Amino acid sequence: MSKFAEPMTRLIDELKKLPGIGSKTAQRLAFHILRSSDDDAVALAAAVRDVKASLRLCSVCNNITDVDPCVYCSSATRNHRLVCVVEEPTNIASIEKTKHFNGVYHVLHGLISPLHGVGPEQLRISNLLRRVAEDQVDEVILATNPTVEGEATAVYLSGELRRPGLKVTRIATGIPVGSDIEYADEITMLKSIEGRREL
Ligand SMILES: [Zn+2]
Repeated sequence: MSKFAEPMTRLIDELKKLPGIGSKTAQRLAFHILRSSDDDAVALAAAVRDVKASLRLCSVCNNITDVDPCVYCSSATRNHRLVCVVEEPTNIASIEKTKHFNGVYHVLHGLISPLHGVGPEQLRISNLLRRVAEDQVDEVILATNPTVEGEATAVYLSGELRRPGLKVTRIATGIPVGSDIEYADEITMLKSIEGRREL
């Protein structure tokens, strides 16, 4: 028999499914929620429900958004001829932090990883190829992480994207090999974009 009442056990079990949350932390969070005001607990539940109900992927770039197309894709001041390809929506924030990138994005939602059975068909690549074919794109910057999977994905994409008049570039390795661009500081990220080389 569980040492907690059933609703408490259920909350702890759900919290434990979150990344980085073990049994101890899940219990601590559950008791915190139990002690919080009714308003706070309801606001938390509503925020969890709304994030699923109101957020979707941008039909152009696959970024997570509550409006479609997303703010970047619908912006009149951004350069739509310059497309930066990233692994996850969170990577956009790292590049936006530099305040020097005025192009638009394309989110793959993963990287090619033969080891984990992830092939190109599982990534959101088809709408990137369509964008490049239909839209007037001058340059695609491949800003996947400098890991084995990130490099493999960049190599694959550079082959798929190759066409006359399109420049395909790879961010410079100012970011340490094997690391995640999510944790790069603004200066490193900016230098990495500025130092990109043509593939
Ligand atoms: Zn978009």
